[in-house]
Amino acid sequence: MSPSADPAPGRSCDQTGAVTGVDEIEAATQAFYATIDDRLAGVSDRIERGRTYRRLLAEAGLAGLAYPTDIGGRGLTAEHAAAFDRVSRPLLPPEDAMFAIGLGMAIPTIVAHGSVDQQRRFVPPALRGDEIWCQLYSEPGAGSDLAGLTCRAVRDGDEWIVTGQKVWTSGAQHADLGILIARTDPSLPKHRGITMFAIDMRQPGVTVRPLVQMTGVSEFNEVFLDEARVPAEWVIGEVNGGWSLAVALLAHERSSLGRGTTTADGGRSKAGRQPLPFTALLERATEQGRLDDPNVRQELAAVYMGERLIPWGAQRGLHPSIGKLWRTIQGRRAAQLAHELGGAVATAWEVGDVDADVFAYHVLNCRGMSLGGGTDEIQRNTLGERVLGLPREPGPDRDTPFSELLRN
Ligand SMILES: Cc1cc2nc3c(=O)[nH]c(=O)nc-3n(C[C@H](O)[C@H](O)[C@H](O)COP(=O)(O)OP(=O)(O)OC[C@H]3O[C@@H](n4cnc5c(N)ncnc54)[C@H](O)[C@@H]3O)c2cc1C
Repeated sequence: MSPSADPAPGRSCDQTGAVTGVDEIEAATQAFYATIDDRLAGVSDRIERGRTYRRLLAEAGLAGLAYPTDIGGRGLTAEHAAAFDRVSRPLLPPEDAMFAIGLGMAIPTIVAHGSVDQQRRFVPPALRGDEIWCQLYSEPGAGSDLAGLTCRAVRDGDEWIVTGQKVWTSGAQHADLGILIARTDPSLPKHRGITMFAIDMRQPGVTVRPLVQMTGVSEFNEVFLDEARVPAEWVIGEVNGGWSLAVALLAHERSSLGRGTTTADGGRSKAGRQPLPFTALLERATEQGRLDDPNVRQELAAVYMGERLIPWGAQRGLHPSIGKLWRTIQGRRAAQLAHELGGAVATAWEVGDVDADVFAYHVLNCRGMSLGGGTDEIQRNTLGERVLGLPREPGPDRDTPFSELLRN
């Protein structure tokens, strides 16, 4: 069949002309994830397991289904990609989480706003797991007020020189690339003098220092940029036009956070910052002989309903902030129930031995879900202003040059 001929409904030609049905993608996805644990069994290093997993996924023809073939995708439809997403989501191995920033945020932004050369440079290695990304947004003085960032990028010939500090950078300790926003013109108002870059994390000007969290684990880091270099062709979008791209990337982040339901392995890994699953809580309530307790039953029912509602909400295309808020509420509720079922033991364990009690890990870690990707309060502000049409928060600084703003 020629690529231009119309395939039957529910089937699609990729750019080689091969016909692929949505049902074939679903079957291939099921088959791939059914065997992935066995195929990774011989690889002990966590990062290497992740890279191997993505390479195998790409070799199985299941990476980047809706992306064009010349940037490493399959050239299929959004329907095929949605089918893959639906089938794979409950089966994803913990290793999948290390690609969330690259494939869930940076790459969609580059595909939508980057140049053709940038797409060819960055998309194929991300799909194959050769390059892992981190997100260099937050700074010590710029979290919720992200547009107040002070990390500077100055043009120097064919390069930009970047100096500043980022913080809470998840996964920076093993990232190859970062998606960075930096101030490129302080004489413009704060939202208008920001540029988005891709930056090589493995260069002398980049220092990554892990932060130890109350769980005893270091998932995120401080990143110091000391005259780090970025080639001019790695500016994503327009110079000084990075704010709208930064917001677009955040929408991808909130959508993917809001879509997630639970960890694939019953919550026994620290794979993601996903709520504990209902099945793990039911198992624990059964072990503890608490299934007849009306309070426990009520909470179990609430967790079950929440878990079902999150993906349905995502399918209906709810605003990303609703999904994100819903997930944090679910995460706290599930962890609270785990805590009640576990008693004091749920928060008392040997620091560093997080495998000793995954429930304790979730009890402590669920608080961070309310912050990462924008706090609960910021999601509510966004919903108020952008969905309900309420007046914007007062901001006398919107039109003032950044360099003239009063700052701490
Ligand atoms: C688990 C985790 C992972 C993260 N990963 C990354 C990452 O990979 N990359 C990255 O760049 N950042 C990351 N972050 C940082 C995260 O985006 C910020 O923590 C978040 O945006 C809040 O910023 P802040 O910590 O500076 O708090 P602040 O902005 O100082 O907020 C403090 C408190 O004030 C409230 N507040 C602030 N402004 C308003 C307002 N206008 N209206 C109402 N309330 C307000 C906030 O809701 C919060 O309760 C991560 C954070 C966590 C917890």
